[in-house]
Amino acid sequence: MRPLFEDLLTEEQQALAETVRCFVKDELKPYLASSPDDEFPRLLFARLCAMGLGGIPFPAEYGGGGADYATYALVLEELAVAGGALAGTLSVHGLPQLILNRFGTEEQKRRYLPRLAGGELLGAFALTEPETGSDAAAIATRAAADPDGFLISGSKAWITHSTVADLFVVFARTGEKEISAFLVEKTASGLTPLPPERKMGLRRSPTGGLSLDGVRVPKGALVGRPGDGLGIALTALDSGRITIGALAVGLCRGALEAALGYVRTRKAFGRPLEKNDVVRARLAEMAARTEAAAALVREAARLRDSGRPFSAAAAAAKLVATDTALFVTAEAVQLCGATGVSGEFPAIHFFNDAKIAQIVEGANDVQRMVLARALLS
Ligand SMILES: Cc1cc2nc3c(=O)[nH]c(=O)nc-3n(C[C@H](O)[C@H](O)[C@H](O)COP(=O)(O)OP(=O)(O)OC[C@H]3O[C@@H](n4cnc5c(N)ncnc54)[C@H](O)[C@@H]3O)c2cc1C
Repeated sequence: MRPLFEDLLTEEQQALAETVRCFVKDELKPYLASSPDDEFPRLLFARLCAMGLGGIPFPAEYGGGGADYATYALVLEELAVAGGALAGTLSVHGLPQLILNRFGTEEQKRRYLPRLAGGELLGAFALTEPETGSDAAAIATRAAADPDGFLISGSKAWITHSTVADLFVVFARTGEKEISAFLVEKTASGLTPLPPERKMGLRRSPTGGLSLDGVRVPKGALVGRPGDGLGIALTALDSGRITIGALAVGLCRGALEAALGYVRTRKAFGRPLEKNDVVRARLAEMAARTEAAAALVREAARLRDSGRPFSAAAAAAKLVATDTALFVTAEAVQLCGATGVSGEFPAIHFFNDAKIAQIVEGANDVQRMVLARALLS
């Protein structure tokens, strides 16, 4: 199903969306159908980067695509029509790029951004810990200054790309009330990824813990100033909420496609399900809610692109799009009957990914908190 408002996209955006659709049809879907469901699609990630999509909204002078966030969101939406994992990878990969681009020194940018955009390096964002997720200010990982740089010790949990990333942005406490951000390469001594979690969805995207046992990083690994870390993390998450919203819209479209395919061919009570008014009403509701979520995500991206404050808009877009995704994907499972719950059929995978999307990049209750704060301030 194509977006109802596709004609409102620029010609460039329409052409890019078509390119991504062809990639999804000719490369991503065949790969998904023929590989283990927990295999990380590194080669397809590399293909996306080779297509110039590894750093869509980042400056061309550092190897990025120089496009706006609305275009980035559109690409993520199209990718997620086949499931959330590869779109999730591109979204998380964008966080270290955003952080470097916004807060990095010229040297840090030149060293890492072109390799991230080109796919030589895969990025990760390491904030969450075993004892704290929503309350990011409570992290316990510490970075102690020494004459050569910093020694980082602690544990991270639920880190996307934990076992496959080449570059982590690690957040650690540099003082009682001070959190800082560090660039940590996967080869750093003392950094050990733990076995990935067994998740209900996004199974191709490895998510797991990191043990940091006296990881030594040079002074040049610090991003921003000491104490800037929490602000850096929250700035990245604001933008990440738009990309997770876009991913959720893609899941809605994929689930709707699966449901349409089923009701067109399945017969009940002597006629195809698609002739049944109740079924038709459900499909219409799914489509209408998907378009509403898509519009909110696009508007949040456009607001960001206009340079205006977009934090509340991003929270609203993430909240509505991921809640919508859970509704639409559950409806898709229902409309496909028993087939809907089969692991061999896509509907349940969209549902599983949608549930996770409600939790990542700040659980939806945290989005409600952000919105309420904006409303009442
Ligand atoms: C697949 C996956 C990938 C992830 N990838 C990353 C990653 O790459 N990097 C990273 O750093 N983290 C990552 N995370 C972690 C994610 O950001 C956290 O799970 C999320 O922020 C929620 O934190 P938590 O799980 O500790 O939930 P908790 O903080 O324990 O909260 C549990 C629930 O309590 C409620 N709640 C919490 N706080 C409030 C509040 N203030 N008001 C109202 N209700 C509240 C919410 O309903 C919430 O869902 C990932 C998680 C998953 C599942």
